Amino acid sequence: MTAFIEAASPHVMNTYGRVPIALSHGQGCRVWDVNGKEYLDALGGIAVNTLGHNHAKLVPALQDQIGKIIHSSNYYHVPGQEQLAARLVERSGMANVFFCNSGLEANEAAIKIARKYGVDKGIAKPEIVVYEKAFHGRSIATMSATGNPKIYSGFGPLVEGFVRVPVNDIDAIKKATEGNPNVVAVFFETIQGEGGINPMRIEYLQQLRKLCDERDWLMMIDEVQCGMGRTGKWFAHQWAGIVPDVMPLAKGLGSGVPIGAVVAGPKAANVLQPGNHGTTFGGNPLAMRAGNETIRIMEEDGLLHNATTVGLHLKTALQHALGSLPGVKEVRGQGLMLGVELAQPCGVLVGQAADAGLLISVTADSVIRLVPPLILTIAEADEIVAKLTPLVKALLAQ
Ligand SMILES: *Cc1c(COP(=O)(O)O)cnc(C)c1O
Repeated sequence: MTAFIEAASPHVMNTYGRVPIALSHGQGCRVWDVNGKEYLDALGGIAVNTLGHNHAKLVPALQDQIGKIIHSSNYYHVPGQEQLAARLVERSGMANVFFCNSGLEANEAAIKIARKYGVDKGIAKPEIVVYEKAFHGRSIATMSATGNPKIYSGFGPLVEGFVRVPVNDIDAIKKATEGNPNVVAVFFETIQGEGGINPMRIEYLQQLRKLCDERDWLMMIDEVQCGMGRTGKWFAHQWAGIVPDVMPLAKGLGSGVPIGAVVAGPKAANVLQPGNHGTTFGGNPLAMRAGNETIRIMEEDGLLHNATTVGLHLKTALQHALGSLPGVKEVRGQGLMLGVELAQPCGVLVGQAADAGLLISVTADSVIRLVPPLILTIAEADEIVAKLTPLVKALLAQ
């Protein structure tokens, strides 16, 4: 077995402040590091491991697929793409799907769709409304759409064509776009993930849908983190009873196998034509099998319902344990996408929690983020709270 990982390898580019742990294997919501220490996984690979680790139904399916064909290229039809696209179309009420490999790739495709949608309407320099605290990825375009200077500082010049507004303020977006004929789309996360688990209000989402219809804008919802059942519905915006025109997906869609998808409604479904966009790996048979099996197993095992009930239990328990402490600003989120905002930076909790056998993350400096696998049990939710509470109390008492 490899020795305990103390320091970063000089051969791996130093792009992460890593916790000094290397995970070796997992089972359900438990993982073990290379030294045999056990952890409860409340991070799920950053909202990726939908089915937890070593799922008894997923693993044999992936093994079967690897033994048949891993990759074939988009020169040929991939039956798994047709199946997964049909599943996503059915569950979203939208029209068709483009497959890629990651969240930022799905968002890049969405941005390209929005621009061409505008150009096709005769708008030469299309602009897209984006939000404060948004996170859409780290490519040049998606970083430019992101509302966090820490992400884009040092990488200018940024891509133009974005108008930035605050969340949950319909007057602000009306004002920011007043008399601007170049706006073609609004692009946002239903619940901002990296920005600190910031939900868009249902009423705001409905007002925004109406505004997009009135102005003929594409409503583009980045459900890369909040989608795929995490909030208890397939897609988080469905709580507001709306349907977007473009919806990028990734993270949880393949339960850990890299995958991305952009789902389009009727207004956006035919914008991209042969030659307009493409990818070598996107939609390969292995990733498609992972996506298809993830959805099949989620349904078989009732994981939307589990995300709702265990999520509500976890949120209530967090509120009970932490909500009234001075220094805790808010417990928020939906389903198994929860945040606890403190009045102070709390990045130190990540390492402390790991020492205590709990994997979490801290985002936006002061928000504890819990995005565990959707198979989390009530007992495991209680264990998260039991492990986290003394650490938060000790931090606040300092
Ligand atoms: C993680 C994330 C992305 C970027 O996904 P990658 O796969 O890391 O490129 C984009 N949007 C949101 C909302 C995300 O949470």
